[in-house]
Amino acid sequence: MGSLVAVAAVCLMPSAIRAEDVDLEDGHQCCRAPHPEALVIPADQFVGETSAAYAAAKQMPDICCKLFCYCGCDQVHGHSSLLECFITDHTVDCPTCRREVLLALQLKKQRKTIGEIQRAVDQQSAKDYPFKNASKALIDYRARRQYK
Ligand SMILES: [Zn+2]
Repeated sequence: MGSLVAVAAVCLMPSAIRAEDVDLEDGHQCCRAPHPEALVIPADQFVGETSAAYAAAKQMPDICCKLFCYCGCDQVHGHSSLLECFITDHTVDCPTCRREVLLALQLKKQRKTIGEIQRAVDQQSAKDYPFKNASKALIDYRARRQYK
């Protein structure tokens, strides 16, 4: 329990997370928490598409950990997976995060594999990436994604 609290505290302070702190082998520590869904802000604090997006992230933190958010939050907030967009109110201002998680949920319901979900999200949202140079998090994601 103590470690979960510590992880949550770090995750809730994005400014404290630097790219160098991200474990490139295992993904971000939020994704290694025993119950990552507990870190996602409850959907009932939001309405409409935003609420649906937070509910989706809480339902499938494992999938969110394997998706990359292309809104630029990797470089601006140090995020290394889509899950991190949902442990703060970041997604409120981010149509990219919402679109990615809602597409992922739809595909999960169709029993698509993680590789198929990654490919679909990349095809939909990679064009939103605002930076010329890929971050370490994006380079690592590309190396680990489960489709070729
Ligand atoms: Zn994001």
